[in-house]
Amino acid sequence: MTDTSKIRGKVVVITGGARGIGLATATALQALGAKIAIGDIDEATVKESGTARGFELYGKLDVTDPASFESFLDEVERSVGPIDVLVNNAGIMPTGKLVDEPDQITRRILDINVYGVILGSKLGLARMLPRKRGHVINIASLAGETHIPGLATYNASKHAVLGFTDTLREEYRDSGVRFSSVLPTLTNTELGAGVTAPKLLRPAEPEEIADAIVGLIVAPKSKVRVTAVAGIISQVVGLLPDVVGDGIARALGAGHAFLDDVDVAKRKAYEDRARSV
Ligand code: NAD
Repeated sequence: MTDTSKIRGKVVVITGGARGIGLATATALQALGAKIAIGDIDEATVKESGTARGFELYGKLDVTDPASFESFLDEVERSVGPIDVLVNNAGIMPTGKLVDEPDQITRRILDINVYGVILGSKLGLARMLPRKRGHVINIASLAGETHIPGLATYNASKHAVLGFTDTLREEYRDSGVRFSSVLPTLTNTELGAGVTAPKLLRPAEPEEIADAIVGLIVAPKSKVRVTAVAGIISQVVGLLPDVVGDGIARALGAGHAFLDDVDVAKRKAYEDRARSV
């Protein structure tokens, strides 16, 4: 059984914590006694969520802006304490075919999902290294180990997060600072609105991703895939020759899930939000 007593008193920063996986993680960790700071580009929602749950700190943070990120972390260390865990969670997932993706959206996906994670890891690390302790947890996706039509730029961004995080884990192996990646399957948050999960892959609840992150903090490891079944399927498919693996993915419906199978009306509010941040 997981010994969650290690969570008590830890200072945990979560980016993109206003809603979804970030908020579920903050809530789970708070219940175990962690001190929580959530930052989000959506200032109104982060304040609403932070007030409702009584987190130690909450406020505006744009992970693509070094000054904003740095001053948020400074404020956490000043008013809550030295950061033990940084969860780089903020991310967006606009869907559609590549030729239809406006270039500013392509850049924004990379800016938030990749540069934001690199920047956060660098700023977190700079604070943790002198203390010889700390844990940076980067939220990737099973999309970081697979390739899904309709998500080309997003896939690229999550492949990048995995390669980046694995590299840091080796680069800072003896530093006392840990690095982990989290690979959720399709999860029931606004980001997945209007998308039907491929066959055999039930969508996860954000609380399951939160539980996996709790497990990582208690017993650090390089990566965790959620759900376990989706993780096994994607690893096995990844080992097969492309022609076989792609055929299986198509048979499960992955070829259409993020394109013509999308419920456009259900997804509209999310696409509008993601394309405007
Ligand atoms: P969400 O849209 O519910 O929450 C993401 C939050 O990030 C939002 O509150 C948004 O305002 C914030 N954000 C966006 N740009 C930001 C920026 N520049 N600075 C700070 N905050 C910013 O999405 P979610 O499903 O909770 O996703 C969280 C993470 O999990 C993302 O990295 C996502 O790619 C990943 N993920 C999600 C799923 C899924 O199906 N929901 C699956 C795999 C991985």
